[in-house]
Amino acid sequence: MYSFRVCQCGAPLRRMEEPTPKPVGAEVLLKIKAAGVCHTDLHLWDGYYDLGSGRKLYMAERGVTLPLTMGHENVGEVVAAGPDAPNVSVGRMMLAYPWIGCGHCMVCEQGAENLCLKPRSLGVFTSGGYADYMLVPHPRYLFDIGDLPPERAAPLACSGITAYSALKKLGDAVQKQPVVMIGAGGVGLTCLAIHKALGGKAAIFVDIEESKRAAAIEAGAIAAIDGRAADALQQIRSATGGGAWAVIDFVGSTQTVELAVGALTKGGKLVVVGLFGGNVTIPTPHFALRAITLQGSYVGSLDDTRELVALARSGALPSAPVTTRSLSNVNEALSDLKSGAVVGRIVLTP
Ligand SMILES: [Zn+2]
Ligand SMILES: [Zn+2]
Repeated sequence: MYSFRVCQCGAPLRRMEEPTPKPVGAEVLLKIKAAGVCHTDLHLWDGYYDLGSGRKLYMAERGVTLPLTMGHENVGEVVAAGPDAPNVSVGRMMLAYPWIGCGHCMVCEQGAENLCLKPRSLGVFTSGGYADYMLVPHPRYLFDIGDLPPERAAPLACSGITAYSALKKLGDAVQKQPVVMIGAGGVGLTCLAIHKALGGKAAIFVDIEESKRAAAIEAGAIAAIDGRAADALQQIRSATGGGAWAVIDFVGSTQTVELAVGALTKGGKLVVVGLFGGNVTIPTPHFALRAITLQGSYVGSLDDTRELVALARSGALPSAPVTTRSLSNVNEALSDLKSGAVVGRIVLTP
């Protein structure tokens, strides 16, 4: 088998060959058909998250080791399974849930493996799908995609469940009040598609890129506001009829979180998803006086994935923009994503 690996932070990924693994225990071997390229891959490639004020959270401190085969949005065909893997059908096209935990810690026991204290996430802590083959530890992490095209299903594993899980945290509000979504990149546009499929009332986008605002309007947003405009806050307030009840920030920079907190109405909720980096100062009396809620959301759970795959298979999800490229062009794909020149999702195919 071959894979493209990060051998040195920030340097081009290197193509490496090794024997194709044989699944043992309950493992399942997938032949990769589609692997999405995600912003998290850029952070893994750089080797750190920016914490603002010149501070960094290094991937090495989180237990990420090099060389690493990235790729956590994968669809593959089941080609082999270990002797202890139950109910596995060779030939099935499956989405692999990558946010695999230890299964034993306090958080895993609450059903949130994605928040595990000792994570084993595919493409982050263990080998992912920038390769022609990938091992998955157990069939419970695999979801049959039915008739969905692999390149459309792959982004459900991260971009999709990240958007879906963030929307779920807003509860019934999405049916009654417009949702403000900051960042019309791949995850933001996916969120808009899911929001529509779930009968969401309306979505208002904020993005600093003209082309991305246009993409959001084309996809059905009722308004798209330039986050760098001097009156961006007033524009959000007027578009939401006085203030936002629900905001999802897919960027997560100092500027976007400050804008989002300022835009909330009393009782409003901000869900922060993006990992751009930065920090904010919030006057503590605002929590009580404005009764605002700030919540973080990181990818999604196995249950979220099961629900989202069912929604996608039902045909209710309009397709979010996807462009496919050959896996051999992975370095170019990462560079394009880094420069912001990508609308929607890039999916690599071997
Ligand atoms: Zn991702
Ligand atoms: Zn755990």
